[in-house]
Amino acid sequence: MQKVSTLQCTLGGELEFSGIGVHSAEPVSLTIEPAPADSGFQFSRVLEDGRIVGPTAVVFSNVTRTTLCTTIDLGESTSVAMVEHVLSALSGLGIDNAHLVLRGAECPILDGSANLYMQAIKTVGLKVQASTRKYIKILRAVTVRSNDAFAALEPYNGRRLDLEIDFDCQVIGRQRMIFDWTPRRYVEDVSRARTFGFMRDAKILRQAGYALGSSLENSIALEDDRMLNNEPLRYEDEFVRHKLLDAIGDLALGGLPFYGQFRSYKGGHTLNSLVLKSLFASDANYEVVSANDLPLEFDSLDDIPDGFEVKRYLRSVG
Ligand SMILES: [Zn+2]
Repeated sequence: MQKVSTLQCTLGGELEFSGIGVHSAEPVSLTIEPAPADSGFQFSRVLEDGRIVGPTAVVFSNVTRTTLCTTIDLGESTSVAMVEHVLSALSGLGIDNAHLVLRGAECPILDGSANLYMQAIKTVGLKVQASTRKYIKILRAVTVRSNDAFAALEPYNGRRLDLEIDFDCQVIGRQRMIFDWTPRRYVEDVSRARTFGFMRDAKILRQAGYALGSSLENSIALEDDRMLNNEPLRYEDEFVRHKLLDAIGDLALGGLPFYGQFRSYKGGHTLNSLVLKSLFASDANYEVVSANDLPLEFDSLDDIPDGFEVKRYLRSVG
C-alpha cells in the first residue's frame, strides 16, 4: 500500500458555515463538500434566485481582484471574494480536493482566522483518496516587486514559507516567520492568527463600502500604538502569522501544492497573485511531479494534528 502522505485527500464529510461578509456585512453561508481525486478546489455560487454558477476551478488565472482580499471570477458576471482564509485552512491541512458552495458574495469572515474551519474539519476528519498527490516543483526562481516589497518562489528541497513584515506601529513592528509546512504545524502555529487592521484606515474603507462587517469579533483593531481588542494576542507575533495564513491560501491558487520556497517582504494578496502569474508564465520555471518522486517524509500527512482522524483508503484485496 502507498504511504498515506503521497496520496490525495479530501474531507471526511460535508461542512456548513454561516456568518457575515467582512466587507458587505451581509449574512452568507458556505458549504464545503468532499470532492473526487484530481478535482482540486472548486467554487460554486448560489445566487439569490436559486441559480447556481460554477463549479469553477480555483486557479490564479481566475483571480479578478486582490484589493483587500482575493476574489475569483466564476464566469457569468459572478465572483466570490475573501477566498483566502478557507483555502488556507484546506491547503494548510493538506487537503487536495474540495467543492466550496457559497451563498453570498464573499466567504464568511468567522473569527478572522482559520480556527473555526479547523474545529469543524476535526469533526469529520480527512479522507485519503486512491490517487497519488502531485506537486508543482519550482525549478527557477521568480520574484515580483513593488517598491521595497517583494514576493518570490524559489527552488528548495521542502515546503517552506519565509515571511517578513514591517509596520510603523509598535504593536507590530518588524516580524519574521520561517515556516516548514506540515499539517500539524499549520494547525498549531498558523491557523488561529486573526486578520488585523488600523482604525485610521477603517473609516476610509467604510466610506468606500468596504469593511462594513469588521468588528473586534473578527479582526484585531489597532489605533496609534495600541490594540483595541479585549482578547489578547493568540500568538506573540500573530500579525506575521496571519500574513502566512493568507499566503498559504493565496498560493493554493496555483492549483496544486508547491514544492519549494516562498519568500516575501511586506507582501500581500496582490504580490502573492503576481508571483504565481510570473511562475506560470514560463514552462521552464516549474514542473508537475508525483509525490512518489519527492523526499517528503518531513512534511508528511502522517504529521497530522491531534484530534484529526485520517480515514485511510484501502485497496480492495482479491
Ligand atoms: Zn487574511
